[in-house]
Amino acid sequence: MDKQEFLRAVQSYFERAADAVELPDHVRTILSQPKNELIVHFPVVMDDGKVRLFKGYRIQHNNLLGPYKGGLRYHETVSLDDVKALAALMTWKCALMDIPFGGAKGGIKFNPRVHSEGEIRRITRRFTHALGSNIGPEYDIPAPDVGTSSREMVWMMDTYMNTVGHVEKNAMMRVVTGKTVTCGGSRGRDKATGQGVVHCIVEWARDHRFDLEGKTVIIQGFGNVGSHTAMILSRLGVSLIAVGDHTGYRYNEEGFNPHKLAEHVRQHGSIAGYEAGEEITREQFFQVKADIFVPAALENQIGVAEAQALRVRLIAEGANGPTTPEGERILLERGITILPDILANAGGVTVSYYEWVQNKRSEQWELEEVDARLEAAMKRNYRRVMDFARDRRVDPRVAAYGLALERLKTAYAERGIFP
Ligand code: NAD
Repeated sequence: MDKQEFLRAVQSYFERAADAVELPDHVRTILSQPKNELIVHFPVVMDDGKVRLFKGYRIQHNNLLGPYKGGLRYHETVSLDDVKALAALMTWKCALMDIPFGGAKGGIKFNPRVHSEGEIRRITRRFTHALGSNIGPEYDIPAPDVGTSSREMVWMMDTYMNTVGHVEKNAMMRVVTGKTVTCGGSRGRDKATGQGVVHCIVEWARDHRFDLEGKTVIIQGFGNVGSHTAMILSRLGVSLIAVGDHTGYRYNEEGFNPHKLAEHVRQHGSIAGYEAGEEITREQFFQVKADIFVPAALENQIGVAEAQALRVRLIAEGANGPTTPEGERILLERGITILPDILANAGGVTVSYYEWVQNKRSEQWELEEVDARLEAAMKRNYRRVMDFARDRRVDPRVAAYGLALERLKTAYAERGIFP
């Protein structure tokens, strides 16, 4: 995929929504660029004693509404333009969800799958050290994304805590979210993004008098977001009939057991070698007839060919930026609804915010409380997006971006530009 494509796509969605809400020119100019772009190079000792230099990024897009917030990605394709696009999406997402955070994103350009646990730990700790005071519990708060999980977040927290001195140390726990529950994470954070995707699907089904029981879903990406979405949907009677990841795609007319598949991925790192179903190509995957498609892998996955091939009624974007503008145009013409990323996958940052609040208050909420708050937040914002789309006659993505931009527009109008 052309890497500039993704940034161009996010920028073009932004321009459309900016027109829809008549965003003043100066706010448009400010939001078109990130506030800070940080690139660090840091050396790490490998298991064989050799030293390798790594390239890490942290893009801080906007902090008008609160501290910078966004995930860290470990992937061989991480690039400056991708991270800029992902950071902007975080600003829109937090503004849409009314979370008092801004937007950021970061990552390291490497493939964690070819490294030992010890190497990944040293890479993570050295990267945290290289970021230094460019992150902080009231300044910029990382979280997991593709290729990272609670394990990396706990290493980051520990590294950061140990650089600030004994007295301050314990106030620093909330420098990252998405930690393990033992080390200050929130109950329900691991499944939060998938849970939020499912809340949106349930609301859409209610709006369209669409009984989910007995329906089918296909999911691209079976990591944190894809697997939790599949497991929660299965409890509603929706069966996973096709699935894919970086190793390939599989089809099973009978439906996969998502719990067993998730266990297989935990043990083997991918869906490769799973016994049920049959192997299919990526092309065949996009042609499978199903009710719902959840992209939960990477950006730029639904181009023109995929949009023409898909035979589903609904797309709920678990991934960030999976649909290209060209693909979206075709899908909308074909009457396929897209629940946009900044709404559909916002459950993750929502529960990250709850985690940050719990750490700040030295509390640990019960799972039921986290779940109830998340459900209310997802439903409220789903409704706002759909009402805006109906009232302004725009598609749900422009509506979601539009609501986010309206909040930023008001804040800029009230605060003015310093000095
Ligand atoms: P993950 O690392 O847990 O899983 C990523 C999945 O994508 C894996 O199954 C991997 O095999 C698959 N994948 C990678 N490259 C692929 C390719 N070329 N083709 C097909 N599949 C491929 O990551 P995740 O946290 O589940 O994130 C997935 C998406 O969801 C990303 O777009 C991420 O930005 C977005 N997201 C994640 C969260 C979160 O809380 N983790 C929150 C919001 C959005």
